[in-house]
Amino acid sequence: TPHVGILALQGDVREHALVLRELGAEVSLVRRPSELAAVDGLVIPGGESSVIDKLSRAFGMQQPVREAIAAGMPVYGTCAGMILLADRITGAIDGQETFGGLDIVVARNAFGSQVDSFETELEVDGFEGGPVHATFIRAPLVTDVGRRAAAIATLPGGGVVAVEQGPILATAFHPEVSGETRFHERFLERVRAAA
Ligand code: GLN
Repeated sequence: TPHVGILALQGDVREHALVLRELGAEVSLVRRPSELAAVDGLVIPGGESSVIDKLSRAFGMQQPVREAIAAGMPVYGTCAGMILLADRITGAIDGQETFGGLDIVVARNAFGSQVDSFETELEVDGFEGGPVHATFIRAPLVTDVGRRAAAIATLPGGGVVAVEQGPILATAFHPEVSGETRFHERFLERVRAAA
C-alpha cells in the first residue's frame, strides 16, 4: 500500500484524503518534517497559496519540502498546490515564495473576478475513459512551460492547466471535488514506482 501525505497547513485537505483513501492509499496529514520523512509522496492541496507558503515557513517545512522534491519524491499539487510547485509565479502577494521544482511560470488568479469559478470538460494526455470534468476556483493559469515540464491539458480556448515533470504533477483545477480520480491514480502510480 502506498503511504502518502497531504500537506495539511491550510486548504482542501479532507477532499484529497477521501479520494486517496478511496483508491486504497494509506494517508497521513503532514505538518512537520518528521511526518514528511515518513511518507513516499505528497499532495499539496488547493486553498490559498500565500497562506500555505507563510505557514510552511512558520512550521519549518519549506526547506524539507524543497529537499523532498529535489530528491524525486512524487508530488501532486492542485490549484494553490500548483502555484506552490511552480519555479516562477506572477501576481504573487508581496514576499510570496514557492517550493518550486516544476519548470513553469504560473499566473495567480488568472481568470479575473467575473469568471473566477467555472467548470469545463478537458482532454488529458494519456488518460483513458474520456474527458475530465474540471472545476476551476480562483484558479491559476500556466503562462509558460519550461523545457523540463510538459503540458498535459489545455483549455478549449488555449491556456495550459495541467502539467507533468517526471514525478511532479500539477493541475490548476480541483479533481478532488468532482469525483475525478485519474490524477490521484497517476500520482499513486508514481509513488509505487518510486517507493
Ligand atoms: N487563488 C488561490 C491562490 O492564489 C488558489 C485558489 C485555489 O486553490 N482554489 O492560492
